[in-house]
Amino acid sequence: MKKLWIALLFTLCFTSLFSQNDKVPFFEEFSKKDVFKIYKGLGDDVPWVILESSKNKFQFSYEPIGNTFKPFVFTYHFNNDDKVILEEILYPKNSNDLQQLFNKEKIKYEEFDSNPEVLKDGGTFMNSPLIGTIKYTISTHNQNTNVHLSKCRVPKYNKKGTKIRGYYEGVLIRKYPQSKTSLMITDFVGIDLKSEDMIYDIKNYVYFFLHQIQNPTLLHIRQFILDAEYDAQNPNSYENKSATNKWYLNYEDTHTIKKYELNHIRNCEYYFGDKAFKKIEHKQSVCPSNSIPKEIKIEYRNLDDDAIAMAIGNIFENDMIHIVIDSRKFKNASPSKRAFVMWHELYHSLGVKHGECGPLMFPYIEKNYTWADWDNASTEAVKCFNEKRNYGKKVSVEKI
Ligand SMILES: [Zn+2]
Repeated sequence: MKKLWIALLFTLCFTSLFSQNDKVPFFEEFSKKDVFKIYKGLGDDVPWVILESSKNKFQFSYEPIGNTFKPFVFTYHFNNDDKVILEEILYPKNSNDLQQLFNKEKIKYEEFDSNPEVLKDGGTFMNSPLIGTIKYTISTHNQNTNVHLSKCRVPKYNKKGTKIRGYYEGVLIRKYPQSKTSLMITDFVGIDLKSEDMIYDIKNYVYFFLHQIQNPTLLHIRQFILDAEYDAQNPNSYENKSATNKWYLNYEDTHTIKKYELNHIRNCEYYFGDKAFKKIEHKQSVCPSNSIPKEIKIEYRNLDDDAIAMAIGNIFENDMIHIVIDSRKFKNASPSKRAFVMWHELYHSLGVKHGECGPLMFPYIEKNYTWADWDNASTEAVKCFNEKRNYGKKVSVEKI
């Protein structure tokens, strides 16, 4: 009876989730709030449990009494804006056989994509390889979404964990928006890195850079999705690519960086002032009431050889961002090369040295750099910088 009740509830929640506006869930309008709502709506008398709830992940399931395996597992990965970027649902095999369950789901997705692709490497789930993964591409809410449909078979061990007693079988569905190259963001807070006019206001590179350092998941969404997806498919990997300490900067450094922003005083009071101090538990980095913005100094000078720009000192030692530009060489460079060069120098300003943090900090300069070069190199650098700076510090992941 209980089983039937759970199945009924499950069907209800599933139906409301999937068929309100469309037959498949959508990412752009789907937030952590909605996921919690669905979870809450499941009812108190059903043993649904939260398996994990963090800034970037929410996972829930129902737990059959006396059994540690979670047959239905729902996992949602979120970006910095609280939107779903990767969704996983594991359906257990109940009375129907596995192939029947798989076919049922397959029919659902074939309505949207008549040319599914069979993947050679379907990934893994709970340390077990997925079987016969089919990839569908569906379009919903002006967005292309990839769906991976797989059969999975997870071994059931004895109490000591030494013997396989049988298998739990089920169907796993993974959904994630298709990455678009246009997701690379070069135009933000009124600053367009691709614009020729950028050469007349070098400080705009600095402001954009500071935003990126503080909001990497927002500005590098494509890479964040790929990282979350990789982690989901490789739960045992030591890399943990989407880890919090790689994608978010700690409180102390965030505050130091905010001092270079135009709207520092307002922001500083809002995020780190007395009121904020009472709301959140961190006990450092409170703004003094007379705090003044830190200096960004841009100097123009002819530089030797092929040097286009140069950073002097860094914010931790000199208390300022100081960049020297060779204006003629800078003007002759392409907009993407200008951005690449500026990012290199700005990371020097944050104390990053040559040879650290990937291609961005190589000690030589190429003839040209594409926007993709800039995007890839700056993603690697931001993750490396955060990881390096966050060592032993409280990471700032909560929206405050
Ligand atoms: Zn350098």
